[in-house]
Amino acid sequence: MSMAPDASFDGARPERMPALFVAHGSPFLLDDRGWVGELRQWAGRVERPAGILMLSAHWEQRPITIGATTPVPLLYDFYGFPARYYQARYAAPGAPALATRVRQLLSPTRPVHDDPARGLDHGAYVPLLAMYPDADIPVLQVSLPSLDPAAMFELGRALAPLRDERVLIVGSGFLTHNLGAVDFAADAPVPAWAAEFDAWAGDALARQDVDAMLDYRRRAPGVRLALPTHEHFVPALAALGAAVDRPGDVRFPITGFAYGSMTKRSVQFG
Ligand code: ZN
Repeated sequence: MSMAPDASFDGARPERMPALFVAHGSPFLLDDRGWVGELRQWAGRVERPAGILMLSAHWEQRPITIGATTPVPLLYDFYGFPARYYQARYAAPGAPALATRVRQLLSPTRPVHDDPARGLDHGAYVPLLAMYPDADIPVLQVSLPSLDPAAMFELGRALAPLRDERVLIVGSGFLTHNLGAVDFAADAPVPAWAAEFDAWAGDALARQDVDAMLDYRRRAPGVRLALPTHEHFVPALAALGAAVDRPGDVRFPITGFAYGSMTKRSVQFG
């Protein structure tokens, strides 16, 4: 019997998938064998998903918009890199059935648009190349419809039932993201504001402290330097929202810093 590539939403497998937040690096991440190895080992410890739903910092579009469900080119949304970074390929199967489920879950309360030509951006495909290099799992990317913490948290909650359908929900960003502070030196020191913000976020996430996380712009130390803008942080709130009604362990499979001030802290809920 032939099945559509992602026709796996039949309830036959009751396992609940975790929800993830991944620090996605830049296209340079794929040159960092240590970081790639950490991502690959992490993926190897997670049950193989039937589909992956990606929410990347690099697609802000209101209302929430569903990306391509058929093979389309990647979106090389970065500038001035050497040519080889524009030759990356990630030909994962499209995920039309997952797109239908996302629409079912969201459309009662939210408008949902489609952009069938929109390919995966580097916030989506860079970690996927490291974690699932065979590109044999259907992937769907949806936009960030808001930078509002509560809205992103509620979006994650609305998507949470997908975890029971073997869908891996992945928020992709950075908990600290100040491009003006990037230092590519191998021994770049970690500024105090970055270390303090990372420790605060790690503690709040470990406790699944929703009040603190939603109020991070006022409560977190160093937030103005850690996050001059917020698009890289809020995917973590979607992942937290996908987790919070189904409490489970919180793990940090990857920690440490890259480029001086950018925390690699990545989170597994459940
Ligand atoms: Zn980014």
